Formats: sequence, C-alpha cells, structure tokens
Amino acid sequence: MLKDWESQRFETAVERLGLDDVVACALRCAHRTISVEMPLQRDDGSMVILSGYRVQHSQALGPGKGGFRYHPSVTLNDVSALARLMTWKTSLHRLPFGGAKGGVAIDPASFTPRELRDVTRSYILGILPVIGPEVDVLAPDVGTGPTTMGWALQAAADAGKADPRIVTGKPVVLGGSQFRAAATGVGVAHITTQALETLGGSVQGTRVAIEGFGSVGLWTALELEERGAIVVGVSDITGAVHADSIEVSGLAKWVDEGNPLTAYPDADPWEGSVLTVPTDVAIPAALEGTVTGTVAEGMTARLVVEGANGPVTPDAESIFASRGVPIVPDVVANGGGVISSYFEWVQNQRRASWTERKERGRVLARLDKTWARLDDVPPQSWRTVALDTAILRVVEALVASGNLVQPSDSDFGTASNPDET
Ligand code: NAD
Repeated sequence: MLKDWESQRFETAVERLGLDDVVACALRCAHRTISVEMPLQRDDGSMVILSGYRVQHSQALGPGKGGFRYHPSVTLNDVSALARLMTWKTSLHRLPFGGAKGGVAIDPASFTPRELRDVTRSYILGILPVIGPEVDVLAPDVGTGPTTMGWALQAAADAGKADPRIVTGKPVVLGGSQFRAAATGVGVAHITTQALETLGGSVQGTRVAIEGFGSVGLWTALELEERGAIVVGVSDITGAVHADSIEVSGLAKWVDEGNPLTAYPDADPWEGSVLTVPTDVAIPAALEGTVTGTVAEGMTARLVVEGANGPVTPDAESIFASRGVPIVPDVVANGGGVISSYFEWVQNQRRASWTERKERGRVLARLDKTWARLDDVPPQSWRTVALDTAILRVVEALVASGNLVQPSDSDFGTASNPDET
C-alpha cells in the first residue's frame, strides 16, 4: 500500500536529516482532510452512495495543488500519501504551491458521462468551501481529464465561485493551457533523456518499455519515439504487447478507435508485466505499487523512471539497488504536469494565453533546473537527494512564516537575552 512505503521513505528522511519531533510532526500530518459522501442517482433510477476525499497536506509554500482521481481503489490513506508526495514535488520544482490530492472511489468505466458529470458536481460542491485559487487548486489524475475539469469548473461557477484558476488541466476553450495534456508525459521523456545522458548514454536507439497508456504513458511514448528511442513494450489495463519496435502513433490510433491494446496487429501479446520485456529503460506510468519485488526480479532494464506516483515498492527498490539500477523518482520524473499546471494558473491570473511552444519551452527549462540539482549526485541517491531537498525547503518556509518558531528567530532578540534587556 502506497501509504506504507511513502511513510517509510518519509520517516527515513526525517532521521537522515536529523529533524526534531515537532518539525517532523508538522511535516507528517495533513493540514486539512475532507471526506464527502455523495448520493448519485444512476441512469436506471437506482441510488448509490459514493465516497470522495480531498487531503490538503501543506500550504507552507503556497496554495495546495494536486489532482483528483476516479478509481475503485481510492482510499483516504493513499490519497493522504499522494498529497504529501505533492508537497515534495511542488517544493522540489520550486513552485509557489503546497501539496494536495483528491479522489472518488469509483470505476469511471462503469458510469455514463451524465453520471460522471453529476459525481463531479457533487464532489466539487462537497469540497468547495475549502478550495479556491489561493487555497487549493485541482487538476486531473488517474481516470479524470480535461472533460472532468470542465465539469468541475462549471460546478464551482454555478455555486458562485467562477474562477478559472480553481482548476488546471481544463479544456483550452475554458482557459486551459495548450501544453497541459502532454506536459507530464513529455516531461517524463525529457527527464529520461537527461538521466540517460547523465549515465553516459543517449536516448537515440535506447529501448523503452512503458506501463500504462493513459495521459502519462501515451505522451511519454510519443515523445520518446520522437527523440529516437525504440518503444519495445506498452501495456494498459487490458494487458501488454511487445515488438522489436512499436510505432506509437499507430498503436494510439488503434486504441483510440476502441480496439483492445492487446489485439494490436503490429505487436505480439506479452504475458505478465510489460516491464519484464527485455529493455534498457522501464517506465511504470500506470498506478502506484505495480513494480513489486517479483516484477523487479524479472526485469532487465538498467534505468527505471517513475512516470506514475509511487510505482516502485521498497522490495523492488532493494533489488534495483543490489543490481546498481538507478531509479528516477516520481517527484522528479513526472513534475512536468504540475509545472505546466502552475503555468496555466499564471496565464489565468494574467488573462494571458501562451502558445504551446512557449509553455513547452518553459516547462522543460524548469525540469532542467531541477535535474541540474541531481546531475552530480550518485544515481543511487537520486530519490533521497530529491526528497531531502524538497523537505528542507518546506521546513525553511514553515520557519520563515513563523509556523515553526525557533528559539533564535525573533528580529528583536528575546527577553531572556541579557544583552537586549
Ligand atoms: P490515466 O487514467 O490517464 O491512465 C492510466 C493508464 O494505466 C491507463 O492506460 C490504464 O489502462 C493503465 N493501467 C491501469 N492499471 C494498470 C495495470 N495494472 N497495468 C498496466 N496498465 C494499467 O492516468 P494518468 O493520468 O496517465 O496517471 C498515471 C500515473 O501518473 C498515476 O500514478 C498518476 O498519479 C500519475 N501522474 C499523472 C499526472 C497527470 O498529469 N495526469 C501527473 C503526475 C503524475
């Protein structure tokens, strides 16, 4: 369960950084946790009650920021862990945002568009008193996308909070960014390129296997192909395919036409995790916890890039460490999405609309700055250095804002200081 290993990594960082109990406590706990129960009338007239959550982990660096997902496995525990991960991600990429996450426990594939729109409206109305452009800004995640964000925006507007900055990843016609849909995946591909170069290689001719063919996986695959990589394996919830080289746009068209990915005529089905296809780079970009110890045992990749949030379990991480296989952690690799969301928020704030090219350039430049901070650390330490850097910046903000007052903090000295009295 994501909550367990995210917590384990956090607690290890607390020890490594020598943070005292009060500081650790301030970082560990969520600032605010909301749970909403939502009655929904289905198209056949029956009623169901759905559960949704929003966890605002930290606003130390700015308004909360994070996606909300629709997936049957959504639990409050995992949403909390994902919210904390968002705090580290926004901090690491130096964005003026904190961390938040949300979700509703449903399988969107079993609901009609009208039902999903009503779920979205109920969810937004349930959390509306505590979200907003300066408080907590929503975005897409697993099972949600621009259409959901458009519904969310309208629900907020109908309730008197008409402001495009409440939601990022919305349709372009409603003020969305031209680049947001591709941003996370293009960013994953860009960081993969950087990591390969740091390791002395090149993306040209490198074989990649990608798990997940949704928003992140699709754009990662397209961009890596564009950069000269060879996509040898792809999977989605229906299964996996492999080939010496898969033409990604052809596969995307096939899936887009409603065909099962596994029936793609120009590739062969693959049993088990696609990440066990012989490859140089493995990119889990579906869900948390998919790379278990068993999956890692069967993998040959010499580099793992976490496109999804929390896909590599601690068991798998130990196996990679023993083989000297570096992992580019989620907070680094998939940061292009939240960076683009930030730029969308900025454009809405300024009532501006950038071209896709301009925004892409800015997102990749921001990722380059983040990568520069990892470029000269040992690859085995990429996760720990990224996490420590992110945590320390949040601590600095908590201290600077007076939320964590240290004995030496007053500008005026203290009454117990004999020189000052
Ligand atoms: P999505 O719903 O668009 O796509 C998920 C994909 O994974 C689908 O193709 C689905 O069929 C596939 N999938 C689900 N379970 C699978 C399994 N067991 N094996 C193989 N494939 C499986 O979701 P997304 O937005 O692409 O998000 C994917 C991951 O990336 C999540 O961890 C999410 O939190 C993270 N992420 C997303 C964004 C974003 O901008 N969307 C940003 C940062 C991180």
